[in-house]
Amino acid sequence: MTLSETEIVSKNSFTPSEKLLSTEIGEYIRQIFTPTQGNSIEIQIDEMLEDLSQDFLIADNANTNVELEWIIKNFGDSKIPDQPINVESYFQSLNENVVAHSIHTSAPQFIGHMTSALPVFVRPLAKLMTAMNQNAVKIETAKSLSFCEREALAMMHRQIYHFYDNFYAQNIQKNQSTLGILVSGGTTANITALWSARNKSLGAKDDFLGIEKEGLNAALRFYGYEGAVVIGSELMHFSFDKAADLMGISTKNLIRVPVDANNRANIAALRQAVADCHIQKLHIIAIVGIAGTTDSGSIDPLEEMAKIAQENNIHFHVDAAWGGPVIFSRKHQHKLAGIEKADSVTIDGHKQLYLPMGIGMVFFRDPHLATSIEKQASYTMRKGSFDLGKRALEGSRPGMALFLHAGLKLIGQNGYEFLIDEGIRKTQYMAARIAAMTEFELLAEPDTNLLLYRYIPEQFREVAVKKQLSETDNQFINNFNERLQKMQRQIGRTFISRTTKTTFSLDIEIPVIAMRAVIANPLTTEADIDAVLNDQIQIALEI
Ligand SMILES: *Cc1c(COP(=O)(O)O)cnc(C)c1O
Repeated sequence: MTLSETEIVSKNSFTPSEKLLSTEIGEYIRQIFTPTQGNSIEIQIDEMLEDLSQDFLIADNANTNVELEWIIKNFGDSKIPDQPINVESYFQSLNENVVAHSIHTSAPQFIGHMTSALPVFVRPLAKLMTAMNQNAVKIETAKSLSFCEREALAMMHRQIYHFYDNFYAQNIQKNQSTLGILVSGGTTANITALWSARNKSLGAKDDFLGIEKEGLNAALRFYGYEGAVVIGSELMHFSFDKAADLMGISTKNLIRVPVDANNRANIAALRQAVADCHIQKLHIIAIVGIAGTTDSGSIDPLEEMAKIAQENNIHFHVDAAWGGPVIFSRKHQHKLAGIEKADSVTIDGHKQLYLPMGIGMVFFRDPHLATSIEKQASYTMRKGSFDLGKRALEGSRPGMALFLHAGLKLIGQNGYEFLIDEGIRKTQYMAARIAAMTEFELLAEPDTNLLLYRYIPEQFREVAVKKQLSETDNQFINNFNERLQKMQRQIGRTFISRTTKTTFSLDIEIPVIAMRAVIANPLTTEADIDAVLNDQIQIALEI
């Protein structure tokens, strides 16, 4: 196949891959790497993908109702083609097999997960980011971007900690200071925070070189501990299991204290856990407070947790991956009171900062804490350099800072405040609707913009209102809600996710299967919320 312009540009020609002659492969490779403005291959792909993106973005159903088995059958090929296949037919099949059955995360009636619509500027910016292809690991591959990233992180740091102008003037571009680290998500942010806390608290002293150089066993022996733990509520995200595993302290030493009826860490239980660790000579690497649990959006009593951490000289980490941006709302920021006392804070950019997937952040109260994880390499990452990779878990990484910087500047304090306030306002609308409908039961008053509720089949409604459901009634309702959620997902018009919430009745633990709504998409209206609830009622009638 010679890639003549007519062949590439002709749309709807489904030429299967034809063999390139070996002399022609070089010509083809040269062509796909040549960035001239008139590169016909790039122009053609650009046009095709632009059409696909636009169609994808305006779709209003949550997803198509094809079965996973059908999709799996289309992806059973483990052979790389010897010859490049025709560009047009490749993107055609990509459309049919991937794009067509991808989840419409920006659809207004897809209100079950933390992923939603994005502002329009991120799509053209993504093209620029890829065109520039900076590697944020070091100055030699990301010159100005490194400082742009530091500025964006400083803006977020200030939003959390509100230090003085002078503090920022001194630290924002000082290479010894790390106000925050841009990572790929909340998981990496949480791991980085605990890694820093671990290394700092078991650092070098006297003739001990520190945990980094001598390992966990030697560190515990030197400091006289029997083990090390992390303490938080039972609703800690599973990224903390990964962190505990990686740090070598074992997931068994991730201590999960119970939550109260509002899904907030029980403070008495936390105090008890700390006391128990002291008795058992267990080193507490960190106490973790959650600002916006993944399950229910609940916010731990951060102020009280900070106090316990302070009294015991323990690192206090706040996982605000989801709820962090509530600090932008003058009306609701009081719910996060105490976050400014945290030694480290995780916030996800790809959740409530409305930035594309792959943006997480960790912030440090002490700009020198991250030196506890610093590494050097001779070919780069030199001491005293501005190389961002020396205090980071990740190595090579993309210029995602462009999105964060643009978001903070193009949406601004007032824009983010509006987005947060609207989400919470619409969640309260949904809660009120649910409370007023006999078909549903509200399972918890929402702290922010996550809502837990369930469907009550008709025969149980009277008993449910009186709170007199038996365990078998509850089991039936659980099964019903599980089926309802699965059917709704399969049909694909609308979407709500599902979780299990433990409640107590006469001291007996009862698992309740809950519908979980996440109202963050600015495109979601009250009418969309009504439509989702009506869709569930309609599906329930068919069960
Ligand atoms: C989403 C989330 C995480 C994990 O973040 P990823 O970006 O998925 O890695 C951690 N903690 C909380 C509270 C979250 O909501």
